[in-house]
Amino acid sequence: MGVPQFSLEVFPPKRNGPVGTIYDTLDGLEGVRPDFISVTYGTGRSADRTATARISHTVRSEYDIPVVAHLTAQYLDEQQADEALDMFQQAGVKAVLALRGDRVEGRDPAGVFCHASDLVAYIRKTCPDMDVFGACYPECHPDAANLDEDIAHLKTKVDAGASHLISQLFFDNEDFLRFVDKARAAGINVPIEAGIMPVTNAAQVRRMVSMCGARVPAGITAILDRWGDDREAIKQAGILYASQQIADLVSQGADGVHVYTMNHPATTRKIWNNVSSLFANR
Ligand code: FAD
Repeated sequence: MGVPQFSLEVFPPKRNGPVGTIYDTLDGLEGVRPDFISVTYGTGRSADRTATARISHTVRSEYDIPVVAHLTAQYLDEQQADEALDMFQQAGVKAVLALRGDRVEGRDPAGVFCHASDLVAYIRKTCPDMDVFGACYPECHPDAANLDEDIAHLKTKVDAGASHLISQLFFDNEDFLRFVDKARAAGINVPIEAGIMPVTNAAQVRRMVSMCGARVPAGITAILDRWGDDREAIKQAGILYASQQIADLVSQGADGVHVYTMNHPATTRKIWNNVSSLFANR
């Protein structure tokens, strides 16, 4: 059993929002020791195409934390992908999370990178020094007919060169552990980090669950029912739930956990304080 990784996800401030808020997030994470921070990439029309590179540069150069830049590809042609990868390289990014991205209503994909595996292969070919990560879905991606089919596609992504996988959020560790067993049986042998989203308010959970289709187990439903209107209580219960999820995953041999910070550093810091000794030997 290897040493588990602990990593975080942040997102760039909204295009018309104050840029400085990312410093509030990163400053607020002081004391947390992630192996890396990943920075999301917007897919919608209003997305700022340079934001991921700029925030990645800040994380790496001002906070001295290794960074993974996300890139969604279904709306890019090769020239646009080259431009994004060039920006990442200039920002000192050494690893990209290669994604297909979600479909934007009323917009046709470019037809070049139809699946994330196409982008993985392209980065491997054009940027041989860049490490490439991929996403995976313990409860099956919503577009896939079933988990076996999804895992077969995941194997294609790993064979194309993805060296490390980060999972979609889930709330029941059994779903993740069963998925990892199936992935291993299918010959997927790269590290798989578990995506953990702390529950901090009821509306956010409902929004995320409707977007990604994650199952809401009884423990989370109980938290929402009991404390849905009490912002502080739900936050505290959510921090404890996420901390217990992480402790259980690490004790069961997970390769690592990836916390979706939602740019709420105080929540992430409290979780870290609860679990940091589980990651002490890195
Ligand atoms: P893929 O790996 O291409 O899979 C998508 C679907 O296509 C699956 O159903 C799969 O089974 C199927 N498929 C794959 N290959 C094939 C094939 N060869 N033939 C037929 N079917 C195939 N979105 C953003 O917009 N920005 C982000 O920064 C972002 N970060 C994310 C980070 C993580 C860790 C995760 C889990 C998701 C993230 N997403 C992000 C959401 C992601 O873009 C969506 O879930 C998207 O719908 C799928 O992207 P993918 O890279 O997993 O796609």
